[in-house]
Amino acid sequence: MAKIQVMSDHLSNLIAAGEVVSRPMNIVKECIENSLDAHANSIEIEVFEGGISGVIITDDGDGMDPEDALLAFSNHATSKLKTEDDLFKIMTMGFRGEALASIGAVASVDLQTNDGNQGTHIKFEYGSNTLHEEYACPKGTRIEVRGLFSRTPARLKYLKKANYEFSVIAEAVNKLALSHPNIRFLLKHDGRTIFQTSGKGNQKEVLYQMYGREAAENCLPFSASSDDFQIDGYAIQPKISRASKNSIYVSINSRIIRSWPITNAVVEGYREYLPKDRYPIFLINIEVDPQLVDVNVHPNKLEVRLSKEEFLSQLIINTIENLFYDQLDTPSIDDSY
Ligand code: ADP
Ligand code: MG
Repeated sequence: MAKIQVMSDHLSNLIAAGEVVSRPMNIVKECIENSLDAHANSIEIEVFEGGISGVIITDDGDGMDPEDALLAFSNHATSKLKTEDDLFKIMTMGFRGEALASIGAVASVDLQTNDGNQGTHIKFEYGSNTLHEEYACPKGTRIEVRGLFSRTPARLKYLKKANYEFSVIAEAVNKLALSHPNIRFLLKHDGRTIFQTSGKGNQKEVLYQMYGREAAENCLPFSASSDDFQIDGYAIQPKISRASKNSIYVSINSRIIRSWPITNAVVEGYREYLPKDRYPIFLINIEVDPQLVDVNVHPNKLEVRLSKEEFLSQLIINTIENLFYDQLDTPSIDDSY
């Protein structure tokens, strides 16, 4: 008898969940990304005990019809990717169709959604659909996730204290707000408002929320472009600096990513203005033809492969150097005599 069996959907979702959902932050991030893809103008995030006891994400986006609302929990079910071609020009935050399937495999999910025609209420708990009914709710989507990992104790044990888990969530929400200043964000923890943005499109406002007045007052806007890249953002004056590179934010086509080459280019641009081991607060938005970016590197979508990266790095270095050139303490010509 053949020994090989195709896995059940639930088993493959549990395995995928290991890569997609390792802590409450991943749930918050995936749900916010879905809200962004659904054209939401406002996204509210409520977190309970660092997300360990639950999270609720509410948006005013497109919503789903009753059939899609259930399909969304199936593995590889997505409305964002239809052909092989699409994979090479991704403009949405999601495309792998595995977030809701993964979350539904390891937690209890209560989904309320309305596409403007009809409201639907669905429960999906640890891999099983337990409720699917018509329901009166406002247009948009509300997802409540409870009991994360309560049936996978090894994973549950890996979670840290509520305060730590919340700090990771807050950082992720900050980054999403920073790269989407035209969307209103509200983040609450155990009933307290921690962070909110107006959605009026001002990244400086978001930086103010994150770093306070002094940083916001000392940020210089910049922009530059080349044939392939258009860059803009805010450079905080070197008199305010940090001990780590964590405050260098790189957004490519509205997705905040991790990129050592670009981060290093920023550090290099500041080299003359900052002591060794001090790093700037810096935000750069990069617009590039999606065909030059490959987002499909890892399920967490944090890393990308970028064509012509060296060229981009040089553009960034030059832009920063020019920005601060006036402040450089160059010896005057007379000094050389
Ligand atoms: P992906 O985002 O990669 O497509 P997900 O598992 O995150 O995969 O979501 C599956 C599908 O469910 C999405 O493609 C989208 O059609 C739908 N969906 C999920 N969340 C929302 C939301 N907040 N509003 C509208 N549709 C949603
Ligand atoms: Mg998604």
